Amino acid sequence: MKYISTRSREISCDGLRAVLAGMAPDGGLFLPESFDDIQFNYESCVNGCSTKEIATKVIGSILPDFENMKELVEKAYNGKFETEDITPLVKVGDNYVLELFRGPTSAFKDVALSMLPQLISAAKRQTGDSKKTMILTATSGDTGKAALEGFHDVPGVGIIVFFPENGVSEVQKLQMVTQQGNNVHVCAIKGNFDDAQTGVKKVFELASKDAKLLENTGTTLSSANSINIGRLAPQLTYYFKAYSDLVRQGRIKVGDEVDFSVPTGNFGDILAGYFAKRLGLPIGRLICASNANNVLTEFLTTGIYNRKRPFIKTTSPSMDILVSSNLERMLFLASNGDTQKVAGWMEELKNSGEYKVDGETLKNLQDTYFAGYCDDKTASAAIAKVFKNYGYVCDTHTAVAWNVAEQYAKSEKAAGKNPMVVLSTASPYKFPLAVLAAIEGTSKTECDEFEAMERLSKLSGTPIPPGLAGLRSKEILHKDTAEKNEITDYVLSKIKK
Ligand SMILES: *Cc1c(COP(=O)(O)O)cnc(C)c1O
Repeated sequence: MKYISTRSREISCDGLRAVLAGMAPDGGLFLPESFDDIQFNYESCVNGCSTKEIATKVIGSILPDFENMKELVEKAYNGKFETEDITPLVKVGDNYVLELFRGPTSAFKDVALSMLPQLISAAKRQTGDSKKTMILTATSGDTGKAALEGFHDVPGVGIIVFFPENGVSEVQKLQMVTQQGNNVHVCAIKGNFDDAQTGVKKVFELASKDAKLLENTGTTLSSANSINIGRLAPQLTYYFKAYSDLVRQGRIKVGDEVDFSVPTGNFGDILAGYFAKRLGLPIGRLICASNANNVLTEFLTTGIYNRKRPFIKTTSPSMDILVSSNLERMLFLASNGDTQKVAGWMEELKNSGEYKVDGETLKNLQDTYFAGYCDDKTASAAIAKVFKNYGYVCDTHTAVAWNVAEQYAKSEKAAGKNPMVVLSTASPYKFPLAVLAAIEGTSKTECDEFEAMERLSKLSGTPIPPGLAGLRSKEILHKDTAEKNEITDYVLSKIKK
């Protein structure tokens, strides 16, 4: 299948090379040339298949150039998740919570980042690529650890993770700086997530413009961020899985619509939902839920994307993002594949910090998405309410999606009858201080994150995930820091070492 850049149809390659490159050489992102050419029978996935069977079919349809998808899926997921079905669906009140955090690092990124190393290794084998692949990753907290977990000690691959020095939770930071493995580098950036992401994208651009940059290093670059199509493809699986569970439970019949509320940052998770819809899954509306960094809410309401606003640090740090990368893919799809328009908007964003889409594109977006946001206080109230009413503890990101799902249910756009699936992207134990404070009704909790985990465990009667409980006693292995304009130099120094 042919993949093209969102900014130019002239730039194309197959799925193997799209995964290996991570990003198109013109700064665009890779997408299948046409979704309409993908023949996919969603009904074959939603009547009793296991999650791995669904993954094999769905990922195989988006990335058909990969051989032995079944084996890759098996290797990716075998024994790594707490539950056999990988992403359990739990009924909470009238809603359904899709638990995506049962993997090794307790965040939804595990679903994709367990699979991506298999895809990259397979793509290298199939294309005969014998160079070393250096994976560059910018993280708002969760991608970093999940990528390190997936890529450490993978032969022929190295990984560098950049995280915002003061922009992640203590637990998230400890998860990264204690990572073992002989091919891993972790570096704190003096800046926010957008600075880290922009710095990483710049390395890709430099490397594609200037062949000399990596000459004689025997190394090529790739990405573990959701700019890589190999990150997105595995994320389609759980939309089908949730739908299948609703059919199995008798809540819906095959063909009925389901709505999904998605806590959104870089627009990768929710875009996977849109891909699932394009493959035929009967999705009613996708709810784009943001925290106080509500650039997407404004955009999907007005058509104006404006990143010139204060970067707000919230209790849902994995969504503290003002430049949402995957929106570029959605713009391509909503403008009916108009690469010129997309390239123009991205140029405006880079130069002036804002752009406005045309009316037709906006209408296409609004037909699919409902957008809303909630601040920390409202999210905290949602955690408290869900615990009080249903005895269920959700994390700060999930709480945002829960609240915006409620906003949607009250709005005139709601069809009213569709079941609502709220995507739960992290374990509450990853953000224990904020979650405990919400449940105990205090503005701040006077204990450290590990004591908060213990108290949360007692209150809720659920176990602390082993990967988090053991963090306190682990040795700190990574202490590098860099200014935001030193990212290229840092990468080159690690590659040349
Ligand atoms: C990454 C992340 C998100 C945002 O997902 P995107 O694909 O970037 O939109 C939401 N919640 C958590 C816990 C995350 O780690």
